[in-house]
Amino acid sequence: MFMIRRIHDDILPVNKKALQQVKLILKQQFPDLRSIDVDKIPAMLSNPLKHRFRSILYVAEDGRGQVKGFALLSYEPELKFCFLDYISASVQLEGSGIGGVLYEWIRTEAQDLDVTGMFYECLPDDPNLCRDRKWIRQNRQRLKFYERYGARPVTNTAYETPLTLNDDCPPYLVFDGLELGKKLSARNVRKIVRAILERKYGDRCPPSYVDMVVGSFQDDPVRLRDPRYIRGKDGQQLSERKRTNKIALVVNDRHEIHHVRERGYVESPVRIHAILKELDQTKLFARINPKRFPQRMITDVHDKAFVKYFKNMSLSLEGDISIYPYVFPIRNTARPPEVLAVRAGYYCIDTFTPLNRNAYLAARRGVDCTLTAAQALLEGYHLSYALVRPPGHHAEQRSFGGFCYFNNAAVAAHYLSKYGRIAILDIDHHHGNGQQQIFYERDDVLTVSIHGHPRFAYPYFSGFDDEKGSGPGNGFNRNYPLPETITPRQYIQTCEKALKHISVFDPAYLIVCFGLDTARGDPTGTWSLRANDFEKVGMLIGRTKMPLLVVQEGGYNTRSIGINARHFFIGLYENMFTYELNSTAIQSQKKKSRV
Ligand SMILES: [Zn+2]
Repeated sequence: MFMIRRIHDDILPVNKKALQQVKLILKQQFPDLRSIDVDKIPAMLSNPLKHRFRSILYVAEDGRGQVKGFALLSYEPELKFCFLDYISASVQLEGSGIGGVLYEWIRTEAQDLDVTGMFYECLPDDPNLCRDRKWIRQNRQRLKFYERYGARPVTNTAYETPLTLNDDCPPYLVFDGLELGKKLSARNVRKIVRAILERKYGDRCPPSYVDMVVGSFQDDPVRLRDPRYIRGKDGQQLSERKRTNKIALVVNDRHEIHHVRERGYVESPVRIHAILKELDQTKLFARINPKRFPQRMITDVHDKAFVKYFKNMSLSLEGDISIYPYVFPIRNTARPPEVLAVRAGYYCIDTFTPLNRNAYLAARRGVDCTLTAAQALLEGYHLSYALVRPPGHHAEQRSFGGFCYFNNAAVAAHYLSKYGRIAILDIDHHHGNGQQQIFYERDDVLTVSIHGHPRFAYPYFSGFDDEKGSGPGNGFNRNYPLPETITPRQYIQTCEKALKHISVFDPAYLIVCFGLDTARGDPTGTWSLRANDFEKVGMLIGRTKMPLLVVQEGGYNTRSIGINARHFFIGLYENMFTYELNSTAIQSQKKKSRV
């Protein structure tokens, strides 16, 4: 199993390690490559101005960070084209299909950019150009593979003119139109070819050679060679891979088992149905199936003894029997009550969140769903949504409560923090005490929360504006407690402030704890946001252009949560996807501002 993720820099240790492996693959697979070309890859990623291309490295790696293959894609926003510099599997995995998976991935990435298509070089399959038969056989296989996507060499030009008389196997220039149906005019392609030759091969191609090749592109529109290997279908085989400009949606498929039928337990299965019904009316989402992740990812942020207790206690209960915490040993924490049912209060902050078998199973699945959605960001989605229940933002390192058991967003934040700095913005009506406490001493995860003031709103004991973090985390927690009655305008202004604060921190990923209980008529809230206010909030978040994971938290007015969620995502989507590749993600690792 492997996943594909983007690498924008060589600063994070995890990226450094991947880059070293990429260099090794390059040296093994392309022994003729000059080491200067291999060594410049990190600089290509970090310095788009110098190289005049925005380059992104995609690595296919397994769970242990072993790189199994990679592709390097360069994007030229002015001339609107992509150039695929390299694509390769590691030596051991040649023929395993990794190259094919990577190629499809790159295509969908390129499709999301505003380009005419993607160019790359491929060695020729013509015996007149290539003397070595073994090579010809390989080149035929490659060109046949590309033909399945409608990608073929540009024909009737001098591109494959050897640089010197002894050069064998001069490459074709292949064009993949990415099924975008855009015409390639001679005028444009001349500029593109000049950019490729001068910027990529400037130190090897003399100006007279460049002029000669560029001048040979006379056909208008440019002609591609007739299909040679896949006839009758015009070489087109549509890729079925996802489009990354959709919102990756992961829904907790096991949430329904968790149904507490006590009066007033408003955290019920109908919430998810109400939201999904409205989201299904849009075409913004691509559903992804939840994957299973190891328990250690939970114990990375939650206390081991708490996780063990929650799991064992819950699974020991039959059917829908629930245990409610009723004894709260607030002192002598070294002595947890020995009777397991009594011990519930040792790990809980209130009396209304029960332990039962299904609560555990649903909460465990909720974490898997949230991690799946987080992983989708590493794989190239810009936006993902974990539609889960039970919610998580009240769960602290060693306690549950407020309908929450595991802190989904915090588990995802810790996981993503390996790949860059994280900001969590909690917009639930209630303070996100869970992630605040979990990351209180860390400076790589900024926690921000906008909520009802704790003097009147749950959880009553935290969410004050003087809680700013401690130790290295001092300055990396920010609370915006608001009065019991506010206008939507006040709320939106507070969102603007919070987002400005987050922009200064400049995270690689933003996680939004998405509560809909700020809405008018919510049984647990006191505010009165309507659908168009949610759209504005989405719009503000979308404008940050940050790769974003939205995690579902509260929201209990089942008549309006779906409509409000739909408006939120429309606002978000419309403002998010006018993004450019040089957005925050590229620079995010360079600044180390303290906020
Ligand atoms: Zn809430």
